[in-house]
Formats: sequence, structure tokens, C-alpha cells
Amino acid sequence: MSGDLYRLRSFVTGFAALLRRNPDEPAILSEGGQLLSALVARDDWLPDAYAQPDPERYRQYLLHGDSAEAFSVVSFVWGPGQATPVHDHTVWGLVGVLRGAELSQPYARTPDGLVPQGSPARLEPGRVEAVSPRIGDIHRVANAFDDRVSISIHVYGANIGAVRRATYDAQGRPKPFVSGYANTTLPNLWDPSVSPPA
Ligand code: FE
Repeated sequence: MSGDLYRLRSFVTGFAALLRRNPDEPAILSEGGQLLSALVARDDWLPDAYAQPDPERYRQYLLHGDSAEAFSVVSFVWGPGQATPVHDHTVWGLVGVLRGAELSQPYARTPDGLVPQGSPARLEPGRVEAVSPRIGDIHRVANAFDDRVSISIHVYGANIGAVRRATYDAQGRPKPFVSGYANTTLPNLWDPSVSPPA
């Protein structure tokens, strides 16, 4: 397992190195998206503890939190048929599907309230999608399957579990929302056994 966990460690160090170059958001989304795409190309590294669904609702596990809260990496685990409410992020985010598949329906703010933008995108394993207030920040995400778990890996430009943001009701009215995290301990990326595969 440790050799596999090295994939996450090298993703985290690669993403931190990218942000240290102080890129603008388009560069973060494009270069960071390539890093995430490589991470989710292989489904052999996520520890089972961070892949457990909950019967009631989707779960969000923190996998890594940057010390300056400049970025966070989370696993989103959907049980069969589970979905998020319509929600925003307020910061840039990257979503890469690791297992199963997801449906993401974007929404736009209009004078008449929130309106779905086109049909939902189906995200298959290895596919990466971006969100941000600049390019479109409001969506609803659902497990594409009624009979199995789906998992995606997300990266956000903040400690996302602590960000004050909003969910939206059917009339487009915002409701304050701080997601928190489902876990109290994190995978140990820094043990010397977490090393490149031989
Ligand atoms: Fe989202």
C-alpha cells in the first residue's frame, strides 16, 4: 500500500511546487488539472478508510491540508444514488473521477434565479473538471450509478471544509454552508516507507 500512497504524496508535493511559482488561476487549473488527471488515472492508492460510503449522505474526507490553507485535497465518496445539493465553492476547484462515474449539472445566476446550464456532464474515471467563480462556480453533483459507489478526488484553493459558502434551494435562495470533513485522522504521506515504487 505504501508504494501506492506515494502517488498521492507526489501529487501533493507537485501541486505545492506549482503554487509556489505563483501562477494565475488559468495556469493552476490547466497544470494542476494535468497533475490530478495523472493521479486519478490509476485507482490503486486511496486507502480504504477514505473510500467508505455512508448510508445517509455523501462523504468528504480530507487527504491533505496545506499548512497555509492554500490548497486542500479531498476524496468525495458517493453511495448509490447519492447527490449533493446545488452548491458553490467560492474558490477554484478541480474534480477528478477515480472510481465509478458522476453527473455534474452546472447552474447560472440569472435575474430569475438559478437556471440549469445545458445538460449534466458525465464524468468518467480519469476525467477532470474545473469550477471557480470566474468560470462557473455553482453546480449539483450526483453519483451516476444507483447500484454502486463512486469516488472522486478534489483539489481546492483553500481549506475547503472550513470555507463559508452556500447551498441553494429550488428557488435559488442561498443557505450558509460549511462542509467540514468526515475524518479526524489523515493518511500519513510522510512516513519513509511511502517511497517511489521499486
Ligand atoms: Fe462542488
